[in-house]
Amino acid sequence: MARHRAKGPLVDVITRVDLDRKKAVAVVVAAGALAGAGFAQAASTVSPVDRLITPVAATKNLAAAMTAPPQQGPQTIHSVDTGSEARKLLQAEQIQAQYHVAEALKSAEGAYVKRQEAAKAEQARIAAEEEAKRPKCVRPAQGSFTSGFGARWGTSHNGVDIANAIGTPIVSVMDGTVVEAGPASGFGLWVRIQHEDGTITVYGHMNTIDVPQGAKVKAGQQIATIGNRGQSTGPHVHFEVWVGGGQKINPVGWLAERGVSL
Ligand SMILES: [Zn+2]
Repeated sequence: MARHRAKGPLVDVITRVDLDRKKAVAVVVAAGALAGAGFAQAASTVSPVDRLITPVAATKNLAAAMTAPPQQGPQTIHSVDTGSEARKLLQAEQIQAQYHVAEALKSAEGAYVKRQEAAKAEQARIAAEEEAKRPKCVRPAQGSFTSGFGARWGTSHNGVDIANAIGTPIVSVMDGTVVEAGPASGFGLWVRIQHEDGTITVYGHMNTIDVPQGAKVKAGQQIATIGNRGQSTGPHVHFEVWVGGGQKINPVGWLAERGVSL
């Protein structure tokens, strides 16, 4: 019994200490909480016994230490926002797509320009070919050669006559410029055209004049129609060739030199 009795108070002391320790821990925790909330002084309201422990717990530093997040070592954070990544990927794909579209457009544009240039070159080639094939000299009108150059009926016939129906086209025999188009004594109406070498060709008795003075004309281009005006014995075109500033020469030879026979 004595042993048991002796044991009693010891157990009691241990228990009390144990209880006090639990209490102290509770006070420390409470003080921390209060300190965090700005009531550190509230810790002073606890019992005198607890004061032995609480002064330390009541300090803000400890409270802060208790509420501070756990200390962590250095670490690398690979934070990946999957939504952001998807957007970036989509953006990259869009940029790529835009790039490809731009490249395709550029390529198509280049091909288009090349086709245009090729078409233009082909047109120019055809035009040059046609220009090369185009006759340099033609007869002034279709019809019957009815009168030659030279003495006729006691006077000088300064040209040749080609007869055909009224309204038959009269054309410029070569490229040139219309230097005169209108009424002329004996001719009724006439058209005079100057060519590159200075030669002038003359067309008379026409029914209509189809080009104005100053017009540029091509070989074979219609300039008038056959008529019967002036000193004429029937519908025909009177055709002259003037060289060296007005000397009238035989059109037959001049045309023959240029591959045209009447
Ligand atoms: Zn004549």
